[in-house]
Amino acid sequence: TFSTTITYLIIATQVSSSITNQEYYKKQLLNISVKERDYFLKKASTDELTKLYNHATYVTKVNEAITNKTSLILAVIDIDHFKKVNDTYGHDSGNIVLKRLAKCLKALENDDIMAARYGGEEFVMLFENSTKAQVAKIMNNLKEEVSKIKFKELNNTGITFSCGIAKKDRKDNAETLFNKADKALYYAKEHGRNRVIVYQKKEQ
Ligand code: GH3
Ligand code: MG
Ligand code: MG
Repeated sequence: TFSTTITYLIIATQVSSSITNQEYYKKQLLNISVKERDYFLKKASTDELTKLYNHATYVTKVNEAITNKTSLILAVIDIDHFKKVNDTYGHDSGNIVLKRLAKCLKALENDDIMAARYGGEEFVMLFENSTKAQVAKIMNNLKEEVSKIKFKELNNTGITFSCGIAKKDRKDNAETLFNKADKALYYAKEHGRNRVIVYQKKEQ
């Protein structure tokens, strides 16, 4: 019948157009310029809000350093009472705080130091070729600097953060290293927040 013919025609047109679409996109991917490729790679490795490296990039970097047996120290940063900031001044004001803290972390980056947004209001920093004392000093200076910032969005008040630091030993993998820094962070939270704690192996 006429209507069956029309249906076949429509299906045939759709199939052929989806094939040409696929070919078209394949071609586009192959034809992508170096500039465009760099743009997409950067987008995929960056946290949208803070423009710091994202969680996935941190994971890649920490595993790379462990494989290469580089001397490695991890600092985990968590903003104190951040839920209260959101509840009091709103989510958008909270975002401004996250962006400002990220800027302070970014400023510390160099060939041996990388900063990433771990997730939510938690950030990580990786230090190669540094001692625990050097990292503790850097993080304590950062803590002072950040606590002095007054945000007009927070009615001219500020924020503090807590930080746990751990050094990778021979047996550590990414997970055990993170757990050690997280333990130190937990200790910092339990002991009044707004402080930097270096993980110490318990003497047996
Ligand atoms: P603590 O001192 O124990 O860390 O307390 P806290 O309130 O910071 O901890 P909690 O984990 O209870 O709250 C974290 C808050 O961070 C809750 C969540 O709404 C907020 N948060 C996570 N991601 C974002 C974000 O992208 N933007 C904003 N504005 N808030 C966020
Ligand atoms: Mg948290
Ligand atoms: Mg917090």
